[in-house]
Amino acid sequence: QPLIITTELFYSHSGTSKGRKFKVMADDTLILHVEDNFENRMLVRRLLLSEGYQVIEAEQAAQALEILKTTLPALILMDINMPDMDGYTLTNTIKAMPQMVGIPIIAITANVMKGDREKTLQAGCDGYIEKPIDVDRFLEQIERFLHQFARH
Ligand code: MN
Repeated sequence: QPLIITTELFYSHSGTSKGRKFKVMADDTLILHVEDNFENRMLVRRLLLSEGYQVIEAEQAAQALEILKTTLPALILMDINMPDMDGYTLTNTIKAMPQMVGIPIIAITANVMKGDREKTLQAGCDGYIEKPIDVDRFLEQIERFLHQFARH
């Protein structure tokens, strides 16, 4: 179904547009990136757009929840450390939303201790990608997760 999202944080490979209304389909190329760090968002955006994905970004948890009221991404990339709510709590909240069933949430985390990884999965994340992002492997990791959790 066509959805209207109004945001300054929606990007497609046809270009960046700010402050406009977009009509987007909930489709298999749309990725929501939740991340408070600007440089990290830029890097992920550049990589994803180069492969033809569409990217919508949330700088904080509350914004992510607002976006998800009207938007159904194919995959969510989740930062853990954010100012308003941590990624564990946000993942829990999203996983409790009926329309989000089956949508993978992949943590991007600098917490590399074994216990931290388990905590990520216990919180409901479907996988994780380590920070700093390996630019040579990132797109392959995304594609693998999309295939693994493909909607039918
Ligand atoms: Mn952060």
